[in-house]
Amino acid sequence: MYTKEDCPYCQMAKRLLAAKGQTWTEIDVEREPARRQEMIERSGRRTVPQIFVGDEHVGGFDELSALEDAGELDALLGREHSRAEAERRQLVIVGSGPAGYTAAIYAARAGLEPVVVAGLQAGGQLMLTTDVENYPAFPEGVTGPELMDLFQKQAERFGARVFAEDASRIDLSRRPFRVGTADRAFLADALVLATGASARWLGLDSETRLQNKGVSACATCDGALFRGKPMAVVGGGDTAMEEALFLTRFTTKVTVVHRRGELRASKIMQERARKNGKIEFAWNAEVDEVLGDDFVTGVRVRDVGDGSTREIPVEALFVAIGHKPNTELLRGQIELDSNGYIKVEPGSTRTSREGVFACGDAMDPTYRQAVTAAGTGCMAAIDAERWLAEQD
Ligand code: NAP
Repeated sequence: MYTKEDCPYCQMAKRLLAAKGQTWTEIDVEREPARRQEMIERSGRRTVPQIFVGDEHVGGFDELSALEDAGELDALLGREHSRAEAERRQLVIVGSGPAGYTAAIYAARAGLEPVVVAGLQAGGQLMLTTDVENYPAFPEGVTGPELMDLFQKQAERFGARVFAEDASRIDLSRRPFRVGTADRAFLADALVLATGASARWLGLDSETRLQNKGVSACATCDGALFRGKPMAVVGGGDTAMEEALFLTRFTTKVTVVHRRGELRASKIMQERARKNGKIEFAWNAEVDEVLGDDFVTGVRVRDVGDGSTREIPVEALFVAIGHKPNTELLRGQIELDSNGYIKVEPGSTRTSREGVFACGDAMDPTYRQAVTAAGTGCMAAIDAERWLAEQD
């Protein structure tokens, strides 16, 4: 595995392999520049991690986890694969951001012995965040991964069992509900859905083709790989400002491409970005095409007013245009709104299916903050606990 330090996707890949008892050899491409060149030649990509099984190129974490979700990773690793019998639990929590872990802390303290199907990207979106300055009780700030590590430890301290596996099927058609991963299955009397949200993409063919070749949705993961090179960020929200500010650690020029003439980001983030001499803004501009054959060489942007286009030479494009709720597995089983968010009864976390509760970004199109997710996680655990007591 070609890796570097401070790389959340490398950590996730290692966690997935470790959970399988699989060992690996690690090559740090920042410490060994010659090996970075070797990685580019072998994989045709510039981002880490790049994973090889023998001589076979798997790709990055996304490809590794897709193989796991399809149940194909064990065969590739030459491992025996056995699917365990379904395990019955009072409460299963799907998802492990602030919402899922807070639900786990409350449910565990209430003696419900919850299982957390944490996802391969355990920890949720905060795992891809640098400094968190607005989570209460951390006056000096805290990094996203550190914060999530603390959440997990607190949940485990009270007996929650955490599995870093993706839920690949959720069946709400009958009780007990069923939740399956590539390796195990659970029967749940009550279910808390805390599946969070994922980054949105622009939807351009060139964006897909050049992913891992300069196109990324995670500056924390990939920014350092483009040290000294001009880069662009698309979006006008807090995430885009945070990504742009973070990238100025590595380069002298970051262009923020935004489709309007004003930013959506909070005042404090706007001010920081506007004051930073390394950040330029391309206003009223949409990314029309990501340029480059094998690697990103620039972006073509279109003026939304007169339709004229121009090219901005960059070697990396970071897409920060918001998120979509991770609710595909629930479609048709539970009421979702037109944007895919889980509908809950106002003032509670009850969904349209009795015994199923939702919290965090998967049900919150409005606030989407770590602390509000934690708050609704607490509500979901209490709602589930009371509902289970009524069933008794
Ligand atoms: P967001 O607030 O929804 O902003 C998305 C941005 O992307 C908007 O500027 C939007 O443009 C633009 N956009 C959307 N679709 C686009 C498309 N197809 N093409 C081009 N541009 C597009 O999302 P976010 O920045 O990820 O933030 C999500 C939530 O997390 C917010 O509540 C935010 O406050 C919070 N957050 C907070 C922090 C922090 O406090 N440090 C950091 C990160 C995120 P328009 O403005 O024109 O709609």
